[in-house]
Amino acid sequence: MAKPGAPRPDPTVIGEMAKPPFARLPDLGDFFLRRARRFQSLAAGHDLKPYLLFLANICAIQHGIQGRLPAAELPAPDRMARAKAHNMPPLDRSGFTPDAAFDATLDQLLASAATFEMPEAAKAALRNVTKADAAARAEMVRSALEDSIPVEAIAEHLFVAAALQLHFARLAAQLDAKELVPVGDGVCPACGGPLVSSVVVGWMEAQGTRFCACSLCGTLWNYVRVKCTLCASTKGISYQEIEGGPGTIKAETCDSCRSYVKILQQHKDPALDPVADDVASLGLDLLMRETELRRGGMNPFLLGY
Ligand SMILES: [Zn+2]
Ligand SMILES: [Zn+2]
Repeated sequence: MAKPGAPRPDPTVIGEMAKPPFARLPDLGDFFLRRARRFQSLAAGHDLKPYLLFLANICAIQHGIQGRLPAAELPAPDRMARAKAHNMPPLDRSGFTPDAAFDATLDQLLASAATFEMPEAAKAALRNVTKADAAARAEMVRSALEDSIPVEAIAEHLFVAAALQLHFARLAAQLDAKELVPVGDGVCPACGGPLVSSVVVGWMEAQGTRFCACSLCGTLWNYVRVKCTLCASTKGISYQEIEGGPGTIKAETCDSCRSYVKILQQHKDPALDPVADDVASLGLDLLMRETELRRGGMNPFLLGY
């Protein structure tokens, strides 16, 4: 019981806390910059240090080239309205074909990447993408968007996927979050992309609620906790983590669809990033490989492992 004079919760704040926004769009002012910094700090002392530093550079490029790009053009308003009426995302991932803004994004990203130090295999992959003709690039874009990247060309597709992330984040940033509607479990309401991981946020207005993070456009969408982010089952959900770990990254496992997706306790550690920490917690995936559970999160930066 509260003693006289003890602080009481403000009922209006409780009302706000009960209502997290359905979606939060990427804020491109620092979206990729924060990720770049996170990769950088995760690299220190890490087994994957060279790779994490390489990804820090890629994210720094995603941030840095934005000012040099032509506007990314949203679909026509009537097309987006039609999509909403049918519970479809406004950005059409499956029907996307490279346009001038995307071509410029990929060109700029490749040109900037060429100025960075990187492992020899990544350099070779960078040369391959840079000299690929329009048809070959379009094919890589299609494979990346269909999440069917050929194993022998994962490094090439990493650059294409990074360009797609930036392009779709620039599109998503122009949307109105209040106009988004749920389009399905594990599917981004802005672009239809799969989730990479989920985060329990510490935002003032949504403290302790959970959001799924889109692997493509970076949009976050609200999703209740202790429920499979892939098949929506609420039964047979459990959590696994690496023994002796910080306890802020767990695998949320589902008995129904025999999958797992990582969940990040961002309310305990605000620095956690849905993409960067997913890569850096590869050890958890290696642990999960010993079970027969399938990895459900999509991360183009983690495909080579
Ligand atoms: Zn998305
Ligand atoms: Zn499931």
